[in-house]
Amino acid sequence: MMKRQTAGAVLSVAFAAALGAASAGAQQNFDDVAVQTLQVRDDIYMLVGAGGNITVQTGGDGVLMVDTQYAPLSDRILAAIGELSDEPIRYIVNTHHHGDHTGGNANLRLAGATVAGGNMLGAITDSGVGAQIVAHENVLFRLSSATGDQAVSSDGWPTTTFFGDKKQLFFNGEGIEVIHLPAAHTDGDSIVFFRRSDVISAGDVFNTTIYPVIDMQAGGTVQGIIGALDKIVDLIVPVYGQDGGTLVIPGHGRLSNLGDVLNFREMVIVIRDRVQHMIDEGMSLEQVKAAQPSRDYDPRYGASGGFWTTEDFIEAVYRSLSEQE
Ligand SMILES: [Zn+2]
Repeated sequence: MMKRQTAGAVLSVAFAAALGAASAGAQQNFDDVAVQTLQVRDDIYMLVGAGGNITVQTGGDGVLMVDTQYAPLSDRILAAIGELSDEPIRYIVNTHHHGDHTGGNANLRLAGATVAGGNMLGAITDSGVGAQIVAHENVLFRLSSATGDQAVSSDGWPTTTFFGDKKQLFFNGEGIEVIHLPAAHTDGDSIVFFRRSDVISAGDVFNTTIYPVIDMQAGGTVQGIIGALDKIVDLIVPVYGQDGGTLVIPGHGRLSNLGDVLNFREMVIVIRDRVQHMIDEGMSLEQVKAAQPSRDYDPRYGASGGFWTTEDFIEAVYRSLSEQE
């Protein structure tokens, strides 16, 4: 999710401005941010600093990480990873293009190293310097087409992209699936499924703190968010009656399990259905907002200002449903 610049601003402007700010690190002070490490499984860690949660997988082959937070935090992130492994960063996977998840791409890529003697992913699209950055092709498109003060250095662009449903890797003795979820938070979202560790790194299609952010300017839709949550639920194998089963690292917020994802999905579906009903009744966007279709969920997920307001979410749901044909 992205930090909004101005309440009531057109969404695309807010996202674009936030991406630019994230790249430059200009409008947010990171001095007091500490990067905290949570062990999720034997070889899987969650790093929390500012911006999107980072997932780190360690082992004899090196380090694979999912997302990179903001560039000014890269030294602290590298230090945290250094506590977990002496091996270089070999792969960075991006869940989507937003700057709070990709701002550190260039720094962390250049601090890493390509696997010597080839690449288990297939074609390398660059000179093989530093770690490989893996993402859906729309992430490359969006990072490489940003211009002006939002431009992103080519060192931070994905080096290995995929289109279609998924990309498979085998790294540190583990099968890893990078699964694309169409038109959800953006048009380039992937979740990363660590099959042996039984952990899903979800990116911003799932969080535990606010309503799902739908970046419609970048191809997001509420239907895609629900589809993405369906996919995550589908992959989870729970252990009923006790903690355990598949764990989910959200884009933002705390480590989660099936119950958390089910609650979040139900919330999105209920609000989607209410807004759809109001659209069917012929209500305008202003009338829908006034009717407060998310009222019972607002104490948990709502916001009247800051990052992503309740009204932003309702408007995105309304527009997603109105524009579908
Ligand atoms: Zn995001």
